[in-house]
Amino acid sequence: MMILLNPGPVNLSDRVRNALLRPDLCHREVEFSQLQSKIREKLLQVYNLQGEHWAAILLTGSGTAAMEAMITSLVPKNGKLLVLENGVYGERLSKIANIHGIEYLTLHHPWGAQIDIKGLVTLLDENDDITHLAVVHHETTTGRLNNLTQLGTICQKRNIQLLVDAVSSFGAEELNFESWGMTACAATANKCLHGVPGTSFVIVRRSALAPTDTIQRTLYLDLATYCQQQDKGGTPFTQSVQAFYALAEALQELEEQGGWRARHSHYSQLVNLVRNELLAMGIEPLLPATNSSVVLNAFYLPKGFSYDEFHDQLKAQGFVIYAGQGTLAKSIFRVSTMGAIARTDIERFLAIVKSVIIVLL
Ligand SMILES: *Cc1c(COP(=O)(O)O)cnc(C)c1O
Repeated sequence: MMILLNPGPVNLSDRVRNALLRPDLCHREVEFSQLQSKIREKLLQVYNLQGEHWAAILLTGSGTAAMEAMITSLVPKNGKLLVLENGVYGERLSKIANIHGIEYLTLHHPWGAQIDIKGLVTLLDENDDITHLAVVHHETTTGRLNNLTQLGTICQKRNIQLLVDAVSSFGAEELNFESWGMTACAATANKCLHGVPGTSFVIVRRSALAPTDTIQRTLYLDLATYCQQQDKGGTPFTQSVQAFYALAEALQELEEQGGWRARHSHYSQLVNLVRNELLAMGIEPLLPATNSSVVLNAFYLPKGFSYDEFHDQLKAQGFVIYAGQGTLAKSIFRVSTMGAIARTDIERFLAIVKSVIIVLL
């Protein structure tokens, strides 16, 4: 079996894979309705959210569908969005706003840079008509975990709604929906939740779903439409039934394993092992551990290797690492801890890295 060290799709546990074989199901039957409602409840339970105030809205599509649904459905006609960019996914949030003709500004940073809080406050002072702020929690481009405690405080002081891309952190990093004053987050089944690709979701504060000056910008990704129908047990469009089976099982497994905190601690042990052992081999991390998620870290390529050479040699021995994007493609590789991966898998991976690079030393 190939061990996937890319940030999703992930290695599945046997019980999640077997869930894909459950009976064929029509999405207009009561069995589907129950399955969907159970998933919606369990998604809220991951971070202890009350269904009275919060809704989990299930979509069929990858994580980007959830990002696009969140931005297009929650920024009203007279709203103005500020997007914080410090990687590929922040820049994707801007692209979404741009394509849909949403009025927006960006606070751009180089990939991997820390959010410039002083610059942010100045920009907000100069633009007091900003109503929404969108940011990526874990920037998978570099492994940086953006500080939402700080951003939440700033937004709450100014009555700005906080929209979070939590696609690669939901289920493994801390998300304080209430104390950070979050309005919504977008996430997916096939990253830290260990489901299969095909299902993504937005968790949204119910009060944000029906602003009076709202406009429906898309047919397929309109969250208000989905929420209305899902609250009644329905769905506006065909959902990925088998991916729902897998997500329900993955959420059950997460709960039995101790929830997001237990997953955080498992990932943390794996990523620390990777950082320490790679450093001992002379392979340096891109960012300090204190700024990084436990979900993915980026490392400079070992001397003498192109990414392709390094990748291919590891793949031949059963491990898939992940390339850097854009200008980082030539200098870094990424290792993700998400998925059904055991410590012994990581130990084997590190032994193989050692044997691969030692040839050149
Ligand atoms: C993976 C990811 C996405 C979504 O990517 P898809 O390929 O559409 O699933 C969005 N944001 C972040 C931070 C991600 O890591």
